[in-house]
Amino acid sequence: MSSLGKGIASATIGALLQAHGFSVRMKKMDPYINVDPGTLSPHKHGEVFVLNDGCESDLDFGHYERFTNIQCGAADSLTMGKIYEKVLAKERHGAYLGSDIQVIPHITNEVKDFICNPDSNCGDFVICEVGGTVGDIEGLPYIEAIRQLTLEMGKEFILSLHLTYLPYIKTSRELKTKPTQHSVKVLQSMGIQPDIILCRSEKDISDEIKTKISAFCNVKKENIIAALDAENIYLIPNMYHSAGLDTQILHHFKLDDEENGGTKKYPHELMGKWVSLEHSVLNPTKSTRIAVVGKYVQTKDAYISLEQAISHAGFANDVKIDVDWLDSRVDPDVLRTQLENVSGIIVPGGFDTGGIDGKIAAIKYARENDVPFLGICLGLQLAVIEACRNVAGVSDATSREFSDEGRFVIDFMDSWTKDGVLESRAQADNKGGTMRLGNYACKISPKSLAHKIYGTTDVTERHRHRFEVNIEQYKDVFAKAGLIFSGVSADGLLPEIVERRDHSFFIATQAHPEFKSRPFSPHLLFSAFINAVIINQDIKFKCSA
Ligand code: GLN
Repeated sequence: MSSLGKGIASATIGALLQAHGFSVRMKKMDPYINVDPGTLSPHKHGEVFVLNDGCESDLDFGHYERFTNIQCGAADSLTMGKIYEKVLAKERHGAYLGSDIQVIPHITNEVKDFICNPDSNCGDFVICEVGGTVGDIEGLPYIEAIRQLTLEMGKEFILSLHLTYLPYIKTSRELKTKPTQHSVKVLQSMGIQPDIILCRSEKDISDEIKTKISAFCNVKKENIIAALDAENIYLIPNMYHSAGLDTQILHHFKLDDEENGGTKKYPHELMGKWVSLEHSVLNPTKSTRIAVVGKYVQTKDAYISLEQAISHAGFANDVKIDVDWLDSRVDPDVLRTQLENVSGIIVPGGFDTGGIDGKIAAIKYARENDVPFLGICLGLQLAVIEACRNVAGVSDATSREFSDEGRFVIDFMDSWTKDGVLESRAQADNKGGTMRLGNYACKISPKSLAHKIYGTTDVTERHRHRFEVNIEQYKDVFAKAGLIFSGVSADGLLPEIVERRDHSFFIATQAHPEFKSRPFSPHLLFSAFINAVIINQDIKFKCSA
């Protein structure tokens, strides 16, 4: 079933193989027929993770990049929609003249090409996650392609790992193996025999249960591996290592034998890093509380990279961070009282009309009370609107995204430059992949807060937005509002970072820095924000003592 942590399991395998000195390539195949998840609602599907090259990908890519520190790209993310789009375009060009297009072999061949990707660097291992669950109709061609590949390449080159769930029945105090047995049967009926079964469970898995799963599922007992609930996801690489996952994977590929070209080197320096991370995860000496004010707070995973970036900043600052996820759609007065409990405020990205007033109220509160503030994407746009309305007195300042009238200090842009080349949206009403997406360079002014944080004048961050600060028309209003544009796009035309001089820590970025934060290298903006939060908390504490 979904939500078991296939993405984290895949990312962990990547990290463990790296710890043995191997290079990895991470890929995912999603069964849905959308071309990419860019048009899916965060309420339903969680976050859309943006890659350097602008690919809007599944949130599992966030886990891959965070755990392995590699950079993924569009060539690593497949959806059934992408396959059909490609195959149908080929058909129109006459690539299949005379023959009818079939799932086998035309669709399955595309899948096999994607997995093997013969024209690019695959590293020592390709780890390919199949999205959805066994038995999903849309995902059948993926399973079939893997069956064919296994036959063609041989078991010594392909390992199938199946992630299952062992429910714990409280009344009888036992773990149940039947769902695992059933899903393995479904897989076997499609021609796939799993080599390893990774069993998610909230309780220890006894030897007896492993024996049972082994017998019923036709998998060696040492390859039935426990994947127990973890207090924090960054403890998982060590847990899975202790459970024997990497040992069994290397054994499968006969790479546990040095004479065979394999490696016994262990722990590699990287594994040591995971062990020391465990210390910062489990033993922070300080604690603090911040608020994230957004409209998707009720959906788990809608802000997953943000959540992770905050915890990375916690590791770096030796602090446990409690986050109040506040719904920006509640009454702004109620929201303001909720904000009295926190030492820092983040307003994250978002789309459409909902929850705008709440976010603006939170920004106003942060600005007026000198509470450390970090705005991200929509958070920057609203920081601009808030200052225009409440500092410069332009009461109808707004964005074209959520209003039909008023002064559009945030407006629609239909063209911009990237690396000196003019890019533009094909059609304003074409919603798929038409935002400003992926890496864009930003020039930072010396002597700004941004410069103090980044320590450089040139940075590159990932973007995902359609609207921009309307600097052309409202320069004077912005100056009156006290807004400093301390970061601008490489061509100098688009504001990228906003800050205030009359505040101890108020910064907002048009980009999404959370996509680039890693557990071993927290993003500087988040680290600096948390550092400011701790200072603010100490001041508050001293004043109230
Ligand atoms: N909705 C805004 C835009 O499209 C902001 C997007 C975001 O926060 N990612 O410009």
